Amino acid sequence: MPHEAMTSIPTAETPQEACGVVGIFSENSKINIAPFCYLGLYALQHRGQASAGMVTSDGNTLWQKKGLGLVPDVFGKDEIEELPGYGAIGHVRLATDKDRHAVNTQPLAVRSAFGSLAIAHNGRLTNRNTLEAGLLQSGAMLQTDTDSEIILNLIAKSEETNLPKAVAKTLRLLEGAYALVILSQDMILAARDPVGNRPLCLGKMETDPEAFIVASESCAVSNLGGKLIREVEPGELLVLDKRGYSSHSLLPSPKKAFCAFEHIYFARPDSILSDKNAYLVRKAIGKELALESKVNADIVIGAPDSGISPALGFAEASGLPFETGVIKNRYVGRVFLEPNQARRDLAVRIKLNPIAEVLNGKRVAVIDDSIVRGTTSAQLITLLKDAGAKEVHLYIASPPYRYACFYGVEPSNQSELVARGRTVEELRTLIGADSLQYVSVDGLVRALAIAKEDLCLACFTGEYPISSNPNGD
Ligand code: SF4
Repeated sequence: MPHEAMTSIPTAETPQEACGVVGIFSENSKINIAPFCYLGLYALQHRGQASAGMVTSDGNTLWQKKGLGLVPDVFGKDEIEELPGYGAIGHVRLATDKDRHAVNTQPLAVRSAFGSLAIAHNGRLTNRNTLEAGLLQSGAMLQTDTDSEIILNLIAKSEETNLPKAVAKTLRLLEGAYALVILSQDMILAARDPVGNRPLCLGKMETDPEAFIVASESCAVSNLGGKLIREVEPGELLVLDKRGYSSHSLLPSPKKAFCAFEHIYFARPDSILSDKNAYLVRKAIGKELALESKVNADIVIGAPDSGISPALGFAEASGLPFETGVIKNRYVGRVFLEPNQARRDLAVRIKLNPIAEVLNGKRVAVIDDSIVRGTTSAQLITLLKDAGAKEVHLYIASPPYRYACFYGVEPSNQSELVARGRTVEELRTLIGADSLQYVSVDGLVRALAIAKEDLCLACFTGEYPISSNPNGD
């Protein structure tokens, strides 16, 4: 009998966001904030599923709980009750294969001259190597591979007289993309990188007018019954304390470079980013894609789930009927299967099951958000053809993904990108589609309705808005 091996059931093939952060502060109302922070993390689960963590402050002590797994795996009722206090920050993380270690889970908590501090971070510093070398040379000892630890050390070493000044000074040393939240005994500090690459917003809880929230996405605010106030400005440092919130400092922001993939895929469809709802933007991308393409199809379907919003826009603009052609089982992660092709095919079927009665004999236009490694697209096309589709035409709601991201989005390795070094026609042949069309960069920008010069489009154009050395400098 062959050995059993663990086979991952493929998930939708997309670039992966590395983290989500949330912070809530409500000193005046003195409510226990951990249950709210938990719900905020739950709303941000799509931004990272490898680990989750929370640190709270009761004014004297920082309390922490973190671990590997999904938010509800790490936090049960007992764990939440063991986190007292009116200030909290939380983090969800997508670990890469290189750093899948419990030691890297966030938030990181330490004691310093500014009292107890905890930090949670989304993004990646592009001058990390230089900063790390400087810290090590000065005698610092590092335990993790995280940028968060570098930032905490820089803050702790600052000679400034108070924490907001020390954080503001540290931010001037950082290069790269970041959205970060820092908790002390009596405040939360929240900061966004000067080009506004990573998202971060400010909100207010309706049920508790004294409580303010910062979060990677507005869905964390609205899920708590809160109200979005505004986005944290590029380069801005906000302080949340017993006086409410205040803008503490603003780093120069000569240009903006908001990550276009937030709207294409990362953000939850109910989130508002750059004053625009992500679902409506995705529909608009689908419309642009249809207007730019030669459409030879009988029906339009979306690759579940992220292809569905652009598929609705595509169907509207092309005048073709939108159908549900594939059902995704959301409740499977890994299964134990023998490592042969038949079992791998079965693994795909467990995750994605086509509706043959919809597809049989049809020319199918299938819309997906992106092609990264190409394997899932090829599997999907085979699945549709096996279910009876006469032709499968693949339309992609982003331009060809040919350049790796160095700002905290995986994969960060160019060699993993199937479109790199291939023409669209070569790619079409490789994945087995009858035709393959991508939305253009200009079509994408039109749908986003954000000035092109205010966007990061580097993974499509190779024009990096921030220092792009993958080694970190
Ligand atoms: S390179 Fe791509 S994924 Fe990375 S920040 Fe820019 S647009 Fe987003």
